[in-house]
Amino acid sequence: MADNNDLAELLFPDVTLTIDDLEKKYPLRNLPEGAQVTRFAPSPTGFLHTGSLFTAMISRTVAKTTGGVYFFRLEDTDTKRTIEGSGDLLLEQLHQFGIDADEGYTPNGDVGAYGPYKQSERKEIYRAVIKELIRRGRAYPDFCTPEDLDKIRASQEANKVLPGYYGIYARDRNLSVEQRIEKIKAGTPWVIRFKSMGDHDKKTKFTDAIRGEIELQDNDTDVVILKSDGLPTYHFAHVCDDHFMRTTMITRGEEWIPSTPIHLDMFRALGWKAPKYAHIPSIMKLDHGNKRKLSKRKDAEAAVSYFLESGYPAQSLLVYLMSIANSNFEEWAIANKTFDLSKFQFKIKKMSLDGALFDIDKLNYFSKEIIARMPLEELFAAVKEYASAHDAEFAARIGKNPEFVKKILNIERDRKNPRKDYAKFSDIYPLTKFFYADLWEEIIKKPLPFKESIDKATVKEILLASASEMVFGVDEYTWFSGVKALGEKFGFASSNKDYKEHPENYKGSVSDTAEILRVAITGSTQSPNLHEILEILGKEETSRRLTKVAESL
Ligand code: GLU
Repeated sequence: MADNNDLAELLFPDVTLTIDDLEKKYPLRNLPEGAQVTRFAPSPTGFLHTGSLFTAMISRTVAKTTGGVYFFRLEDTDTKRTIEGSGDLLLEQLHQFGIDADEGYTPNGDVGAYGPYKQSERKEIYRAVIKELIRRGRAYPDFCTPEDLDKIRASQEANKVLPGYYGIYARDRNLSVEQRIEKIKAGTPWVIRFKSMGDHDKKTKFTDAIRGEIELQDNDTDVVILKSDGLPTYHFAHVCDDHFMRTTMITRGEEWIPSTPIHLDMFRALGWKAPKYAHIPSIMKLDHGNKRKLSKRKDAEAAVSYFLESGYPAQSLLVYLMSIANSNFEEWAIANKTFDLSKFQFKIKKMSLDGALFDIDKLNYFSKEIIARMPLEELFAAVKEYASAHDAEFAARIGKNPEFVKKILNIERDRKNPRKDYAKFSDIYPLTKFFYADLWEEIIKKPLPFKESIDKATVKEILLASASEMVFGVDEYTWFSGVKALGEKFGFASSNKDYKEHPENYKGSVSDTAEILRVAITGSTQSPNLHEILEILGKEETSRRLTKVAESL
């Protein structure tokens, strides 16, 4: 009589590799106690999503903070959804965020001893394990056509029971070995299913590193593990790969929670110790008052490229994501006066369970802090790179006079409380256009926002007097004393306090005097430090601007 060994030989005649061989080839990793082996395992189906970056960042951080290993595995078994080249693109995008793996798939070949790290190259491993499962009677060929499966589904609908290939609905589960062999020999197409011994009326319990104990219905579905194209399904590939790659913690999206009993069922069937699971919460968005998952179709922020193209430094997005991951991060960053993520002690247990709401204001807040603290040369290089990719006009101006741009970027930078004007590199050019004489000419063609309450004749007098009398090359205090004195000459209080006490005695305060100068020079009532602006423009250009505006009034 034929047995499962004969079945296994018939299905996989060429497979000589065994589970034992694999156990030897991929030995347990020699790591200190507590060190975690984590991975990021995307499918090459498109660009890097913000949620995936979040997951990858956490995976890497867990490994780094425990002295473990973080690797990258490409899960390319769904050939219909695979987009050529997107695996390499994902790696490149991760690299832009500094999320580089210790080992894994790379476009130039694998790095590390636990590969191949691309699932389509691991067929021999999957086939070896499946052959063994067939021998042990824990996997079997299923000959159902799509139409057969439709019929099963229809009967389940009619009986008002859950859909799926389980129990009495698992049509080919109880075929005899002879029947199986006969069908295979007749050339009937097959897939391989896992034979579950689970009981739907029982529970599977596991401890999630983020969520604590989770109890779910036991798996009793005989899921497909090997498809007709010879590639495994996610369920099986995950179990097999994470076992032989010696992963200790699975950090993956929370959408996988419901499938976990399937995975634990397989780990049990194989007699393997299951890794820890940490199901990462999804990033949510408020949409007309409703919380929903960030959607790759609806939301620009779902793609990390959106942030880079908008001109956010990569670090800003990472810092923002870390603030979602551990709510104590912000307090730590402020107390330690640093946004250096490598210094932060991330704790997976402290992750919030609720999907965090994406908050662009919070991202802008962090990003302003980060840009303000960047050393000048680093900021200049980043701005230059950003402009050459996204803003040809600004790039040309940087190319023509880099020192001028550096001076602009350096305004109120090198100090304890640096100025926080820019949340992204793309904010810089629009806010600094007035520095360029030709663009300033355009700005002053529009009505300038001088205060209505101050008569134009006075404005004109102040501008003309400043054009000839303003002092340059002095410190800000001395310069401002000059502005005060000049205002006084034309009836403005030299301090805001004097003005507030007796507004009837003055045309305005010293702030109004300064604002008149600011409006003429920048076209706006708001600008960075005026003294620094004037020093950058120089005496001649300042005087030309003040005179030109005065004459136009
Ligand atoms: N390829 C799966 C995905 O992209 C990976 C899930 C996991 O990390 O195990 O969702």
